[in-house]
Amino acid sequence: MKQGIPEIIKLFKFAAKGLIFSQQYQVKDFPRISKLASNSESPVAVKVNFSLEEGRIPCIKGEVKLDLALTCQRCLNEVSVHLTPKFQLAFLKNEQQGEKLAPCFETILNADEEFSTIEFITDEVLISVPMTPMHEHECVSYQDTLPAEACKRENPFAILEQLKNKK
Ligand SMILES: [Zn+2]
Repeated sequence: MKQGIPEIIKLFKFAAKGLIFSQQYQVKDFPRISKLASNSESPVAVKVNFSLEEGRIPCIKGEVKLDLALTCQRCLNEVSVHLTPKFQLAFLKNEQQGEKLAPCFETILNADEEFSTIEFITDEVLISVPMTPMHEHECVSYQDTLPAEACKRENPFAILEQLKNKK
């Protein structure tokens, strides 16, 4: 049976037992993510799967699904961004340990044995948040775009006019 994710990850212990957790959080449970988004009540679904690779390397495979209401950097209105960060991490004591490991693992050196689940998930989610979130459609109003477009079209002729005048 799947169980909720403990607040503190005990890396080697969980990996040795091959534990699988899943939990539904809310955006507001992740303070650093909550600061970026206005939908604090929205669900954040997290699945994590612990395993021991090569008999001694603790690994975490996981998947997060969430929607964030961010500010569109083009029109400054709200834009909803669907994120599904997935990760597959191997925690190594030294680089040699990772030599036999499948290349699909992202390796992390010298991690603590225990760390905060919330902080860990936050880091994985923040990597996937776009730096400049924008609507997929042209969201800036017609009036706003028209002058720029018109300028671009007129410029070549303006230059031609100038050349003609010089002759
Ligand atoms: Zn926009």
